[in-house]
Amino acid sequence: MFARRSWSATAEATRYDASNEGPTVTPVQLQSMRVESMRVLRKYEPSRSPRQSGDHASLAVRGGLRAACFGLALVVAALRVAGAADPELANAAPKWWKGNLHTHTLWSDGDDFPEMVAAWYRDHEYHFLALSDHNIFASGKRWIAEKKVIKRGGDQVIETYLERFGPAWVERRTRNETAEIRLKPFDEFRCLVEERGRFLMIPGEEISDRVAGKPLHINASNIEEAIQPVGGETVAEAIQANLRAVQDQAERSGREILAHLNHPNFGWGVTAADLAQATLERHVEVFNGHPGVNQRGDKDHPSVETLWDIANTIRLDDLQTPPLFGVATDDCHNYHAAEQEGNFSRPGRGWVMVQATYLTPEKILRAMKAGSFYASTGITLTRCDYDLESQRLSLTIEPDDDATFTTRFIASFPKGDAEAPRIGIEVGRVEGLAAEYQLTGEELYVRAVVTSSQPPRDPVWPEQRAEAWTQPVGWRHRLAGAALAQ
Ligand SMILES: [Zn+2]
Ligand SMILES: [Zn+2]
Repeated sequence: MFARRSWSATAEATRYDASNEGPTVTPVQLQSMRVESMRVLRKYEPSRSPRQSGDHASLAVRGGLRAACFGLALVVAALRVAGAADPELANAAPKWWKGNLHTHTLWSDGDDFPEMVAAWYRDHEYHFLALSDHNIFASGKRWIAEKKVIKRGGDQVIETYLERFGPAWVERRTRNETAEIRLKPFDEFRCLVEERGRFLMIPGEEISDRVAGKPLHINASNIEEAIQPVGGETVAEAIQANLRAVQDQAERSGREILAHLNHPNFGWGVTAADLAQATLERHVEVFNGHPGVNQRGDKDHPSVETLWDIANTIRLDDLQTPPLFGVATDDCHNYHAAEQEGNFSRPGRGWVMVQATYLTPEKILRAMKAGSFYASTGITLTRCDYDLESQRLSLTIEPDDDATFTTRFIASFPKGDAEAPRIGIEVGRVEGLAAEYQLTGEELYVRAVVTSSQPPRDPVWPEQRAEAWTQPVGWRHRLAGAALAQ
């Protein structure tokens, strides 16, 4: 059902072309395997000559044929091993994958075991998950007092863990008269929850810095080891410095690592100007499911969505820098807080839908770097296209019972002589399951935000409605070649 959906809005944002990725065995490799099998046959051809007679000859023929068959069997086996007999791999086409890149476990301040957290997302039909504990990556030996676990997650937390994973998996001990339970490292539990094409775990971390007394949190997904916060004189400098540390690890390890800036309004830590100046940054949370992150701003601060527009306007108009792409995440800490309870960060509130050919960390993160994704709190798009030639942005929405949908097209404009408002302006509004906007060429960028008449499954604030945010398009022609190289 995923294959039906299409996304080309990002043809603009990217040079990444998923169709360039060949199957595991390419047609050329297949041909060379066939040639090899013919060579095995020909090797025994003389022994099949009618001029030859006698037992030796017929033995040679039989032996030759047997060897040839053996050779063919080897080739077939090689093809199987290489994956050519696996249509799921060989014929992989771009699909939509649902994932969350921001969540916490008992390794830092979450209230459940990491494999239980992974199981929650798997059970709720996510395809990928990054665990992102504060300044730590789940590795090495770690025991935690059971009373601490119960204090965090409640009386049932250990019992539920035992029910799900069994006493043969759960490790407990007593030290200095204290009952302890072992926190499993990432590499130890991932194989119990992962499944090809169904569920992927991505090693992650929330780099949690403090600059001038304010929080600065940046997630790094697909890390090799934890990256410690590096600080800086100003918030903008600290963002750049932490992103350089991420870049260093990516280069050193050869890994595809994605950094995204978290909850900019948390503690009013990151301003639009900070976001604009951090030119190494390309992704920011436009939605974070934690109730304490000032998602909607206040009388003195813009909402995160407006912050995003201001930062992208400065980047494109003043700094000739590509815009930030918007990510939605859970930032869940509380897996054991019931939905009717108040101020908790629960799972399942924000996610990204990424279009990629394979469910691997590299393919998912590369697609996100290219902008081939949208952010959601409860709306599914069946199609989202930006046609470069006609400069038309269009999308269709998956129906959801009796919910109705409004799509607003939001644009920013370059500085002009007039004092007219130019940042985050609504330039189009369409009701229904399909919406389209024709760019005029005057816009710095255009993006779409779809709002449902219905609340999301677990609202963060009472009047919240389910939404989906597409990435800014129509900006590429404004940048010089140097900026595009980023
Ligand atoms: Zn945070
Ligand atoms: Zn967090």
